Amino acid sequence: MQILDGKKAAQSIKDELKLEVAQLVNDGKKAPHLAAILVGTNGASETYVASKVKSCAEVGFKSTLIRFEEEISEMKLLDTIEELNNDPDVDGILVQLPLPAHISEEEVINTIDPEKDVDGFHPANVGKMVQGLPSFVAATPYGIMLLLQHYKIDTKGKHAIVIGRSNIVGRPMSILLSSNTNPGNCTVTICHSQTKNLRELCLQGDIIIAALGRADFVRADMVKEGAVVIDVGITRVEDASKKSGFRLKGDVDFENVAPKCAYITPVPGGVGPMTIAALLKNTFRSCAMKNYE
Ligand code: NAP
Repeated sequence: MQILDGKKAAQSIKDELKLEVAQLVNDGKKAPHLAAILVGTNGASETYVASKVKSCAEVGFKSTLIRFEEEISEMKLLDTIEELNNDPDVDGILVQLPLPAHISEEEVINTIDPEKDVDGFHPANVGKMVQGLPSFVAATPYGIMLLLQHYKIDTKGKHAIVIGRSNIVGRPMSILLSSNTNPGNCTVTICHSQTKNLRELCLQGDIIIAALGRADFVRADMVKEGAVVIDVGITRVEDASKKSGFRLKGDVDFENVAPKCAYITPVPGGVGPMTIAALLKNTFRSCAMKNYE
């Protein structure tokens, strides 16, 4: 069994980006600029945005963090996005989800200029991704593709089981894995809460992508020997021994599943860092596209 070390793979992507940014600046071009919007004070969202901002600094990107109170109106948020759309210095815009219930995530996503939509959630980018056209691909599935590529995992002709069909993880993941690309060319089964015989389906999986958000859901008796298991889930479970009072758990019962796997991602240190690396790559691409216009 080999651990797919997302932290290490992400670091090598960041090292490359750092060199590319230095080259851009050396050529008299501007460095990439990511603008992040955070609404409210959700603990997990705070942590995610903080690590995105920190990673920008590591690779030489400029970043701007715009914070709003939970009560901000949808109109004010949409106006701010429009301002960022029109700001030529901003290459990428991300609005950290989830948003408070009174704000429509759909409206927010649709307002972001698709050319600055480095989270890859805008329907224009999703449509292009489905058609295999150049686009911004949602950071988590894109990060997983980069991880498979980094470890040269052979995916061609394999049966991939994707558990979860959200717009930000499961669905785009299923499309990327089924695409005529490398990594890709899988035969994909996408599962959700209404799927029957999930255990039997998982047992057929050469590759399992667990993205449902239920701690320890994928057990050893659901995984065949030699499978590649990618654990996307992040659930906070109480842990009095930790200063924070919680620890992070994946969707896979790592301890019992890992011995059966050819490859497996840990949580934390697997998909999480790759998601950030993918976001940085999207932001760099947005900036580079403008630089060469
Ligand atoms: P989500 O929007 O809640 O979607 C969860 C999906 O899992 C849904 O499609 C749901 O089915 C399915 N599901 C729920 N219970 C199931 C069950 N018992 N059996 C089969 N399918 C089931 O979640 P998400 O945004 O995709 O995120 C999934 C997990 O990944 C979460 O833990 C999240 O924190 C984590 N995540 C991690 C990263 C990272 O960077 N590592 C990034 C994004 C998300 P229905 O559609 O039928 O409801």
